[in-house]
Amino acid sequence: MDAPRPERLTDAALADALRRGGLRLTRPRRAVHAALRDLGGHRSADEVHAALAAAGTRVSRMTVYNALADLLRAGVVQRADAGPGRALFEAGAAWHHHLLCRTCGGIEDVPCVRGRRPCLSLPAAFGRAEEAQVIFRGVCRRCLEGERRKRR
Ligand SMILES: [Zn+2]
Ligand SMILES: [Zn+2]
Repeated sequence: MDAPRPERLTDAALADALRRGGLRLTRPRRAVHAALRDLGGHRSADEVHAALAAAGTRVSRMTVYNALADLLRAGVVQRADAGPGRALFEAGAAWHHHLLCRTCGGIEDVPCVRGRRPCLSLPAAFGRAEEAQVIFRGVCRRCLEGERRKRR
């Protein structure tokens, strides 16, 4: 499945999204969003921090964590549930799920058929669900094709 390309948000659109959550577009928030978008894919806060440092932007690791949390709340960044371990983030607003490949360790985006949260319902007896992100575990298409080629 092709990864949905993160939309190129203008500063104004980014500022709007943050303002709806009662936040301002600060320099670190803009820098963290741009770094995540430019890296592409699913990235940890540490990877974003390293990319910023490599580009000469000096921000603390804590600033990166806080900015990611703010961008997540503003809906311009998604958290990719990939099981235990480091939290992964990606730029973009499209709600989707993930396939974790046990062969190559890759993470593939899987479109959500419903396209909005929550796409699974929680029995009311448990409370109210705000999201339900599915982790598919298995083998990605690339690896399956590789296995098939080897068998021939
Ligand atoms: Zn794979
Ligand atoms: Zn994703």
